[in-house]
Amino acid sequence: MGAAATDLYKFEPDARAKAIVSALGSKSLVLVGMMGAGKTSVGKRLAARLGLDFLDADAEIESAHRMTIPEIFAKHGEAYFREGERKVVARLLDSGPRVIATGGGAFIHAATRSRIKQQAVSVWLKADFDVLMRRVRKKSNRPLLQTSDPEGTLLRLIEERYPIYAEADHAVLSKDGPHEIVIEDILRILEHDFGLTSPQPPGRDESVPDVTLKVGLGARAYDIVIGGALIRTAGERIAALAPKSNCAIITDAQVAALHLPALQASLDAVGIRHTSIVIPPGEASKSYAQFERLCDAVISAKLERRDLIIALGGGVVGDLAGFVAASVRRGMAFVQMPTSLLAQVDSSVGGKTGINSPFGKNLIGAFHQPALVLADTACLDTLPLREFKAGYAEVAKYGLIDDPEFFYWLEANWRDVFAGGAARQEAIARSCAAKAAVVERDEFETGDRALLNLGHTFGHAFERLTHYDSAKLVHGEGVAVGMACAFRFSVKRGLCSGQDAHRMEVHLRQVGLPTRIRQIQQDLTADALLEAMFQDKKVERGALTFILARGIGQSFIAKNVPADEVHAFLNEELALQEPGYDG
Ligand code: NAD
Repeated sequence: MGAAATDLYKFEPDARAKAIVSALGSKSLVLVGMMGAGKTSVGKRLAARLGLDFLDADAEIESAHRMTIPEIFAKHGEAYFREGERKVVARLLDSGPRVIATGGGAFIHAATRSRIKQQAVSVWLKADFDVLMRRVRKKSNRPLLQTSDPEGTLLRLIEERYPIYAEADHAVLSKDGPHEIVIEDILRILEHDFGLTSPQPPGRDESVPDVTLKVGLGARAYDIVIGGALIRTAGERIAALAPKSNCAIITDAQVAALHLPALQASLDAVGIRHTSIVIPPGEASKSYAQFERLCDAVISAKLERRDLIIALGGGVVGDLAGFVAASVRRGMAFVQMPTSLLAQVDSSVGGKTGINSPFGKNLIGAFHQPALVLADTACLDTLPLREFKAGYAEVAKYGLIDDPEFFYWLEANWRDVFAGGAARQEAIARSCAAKAAVVERDEFETGDRALLNLGHTFGHAFERLTHYDSAKLVHGEGVAVGMACAFRFSVKRGLCSGQDAHRMEVHLRQVGLPTRIRQIQQDLTADALLEAMFQDKKVERGALTFILARGIGQSFIAKNVPADEVHAFLNEELALQEPGYDG
């Protein structure tokens, strides 16, 4: 057992491995996760790649006691085993760097976990129930599964342990298939974490070819173009769409400072006359006052019905400018040029436009489809990270609604989505395709377009009670907490497995999104939240409608949810605190 056995696998590390080992310093890499997650087999190969020793904590304990783990459990009990495990892990950590595989319960033990956090970089090998069950079914040496109901026991362990494993520094999906895939994921995460990846050259998004999707709405059909240089080249596309038209660009001050000159230059280059109207950034601009000001500005700029309004900005600009376009001269054409991730994957597609009323969000508005959507993925490089994460909540939403494969893809690739380039473009394109498909089926939300509101009944209540104050909460963060609530509510109603609820929460937390109501504001109450939900426009004749889930990718519309059930659930949620959240 131990280091000697693994020398068999060792070979000369390459430059990449050397850089990672040097960045580790004296810290070890510790693999944590459930029995059957593959910690030993992945650990051995990972150690070999890095030219490090591999040690299996369970094997060390067995050799120290000259007994198997089932024998230690049978003879001395679990508490004794955990204490021995704590000592062994502490000893192994003292002379890093190494790769160490730990038993399934090691990281759950508070003292062992705290030691690992101090002296190691921890990686959680995360596996689904089915994968784990398949792998452990054959093995007899898993004392915790020696019960009459191993499946129930495994499920219970997953529910107890996954939130704690999520405190590991990194999480990697342990899939069936070659171990090399998992090892490559770990290496990439470590390189990213240690800042070893060479910074992407500027213009990386520009080297990825544009993708064009169609929103098939008959006479109101339009294209969504997703690419890396669309602001710089917008003039040609706009000239083709509306030759000889005049344009009013509506944007906010923050976006104007960063991206307006490029758009103006591009319109100048093709001889399109334009005027720019700048609003203050933030949700407060979706107001009667700004709406009035913008309508007057468009009319006084002498724009006619066949002229164009261009919305350059996030969802606030898109919703407001779209509503201005829907209203001035009873409807002008408009182009969405979304600059936030949320706007690129959600608000710019589908034609919902509007402003807020003192009675609630988006209560005044119109369905008015854009004539074109140009999503410039490179302009997201200037988006504040908090806003990028908030938009990511809406990306994850599409997987959670009805595309589990997309959700799993995001779990494996989210870092690349954040970094930019092809993965970012793919995430945006898949999100837009999902939204376009729903909009084509149900343009005016009489049916399953409501699925897109996953997390929103909760989320809108949070936004309302924090007075749309973006210092406290931005829309996508409200959606993230709302989606986690929707999944936990589904578990409480016996619809969804706790495993899926944990899994989605873990992923949201991993990217730095909040998932618990207590993270938003300490003084929220169940009464106030319920009242805010009844103000939401999704309320139909006094009954609450929620989007609930039977699992990841299995959301559905639940009408007539009894208010007292929601109230009881909210009280439980308010009692939950968030372990280890750092967003
Ligand atoms: P936002 O428009 O307020 O943008 C967020 C912040 O990011 C703003 O400060 C903005 O100035 C800044 N910003 C945007 N792009 C930037 C860039 N490229 N570089 C630097 N800063 C940039 O908020 P949002 O999250 O984009 O949109 C939220 C709004 O969208 C809400 O009002 C919500 O109701 C609405 N929404 C509408 C729909 C719909 O179907 N119409 C769907 C979802 C959300």
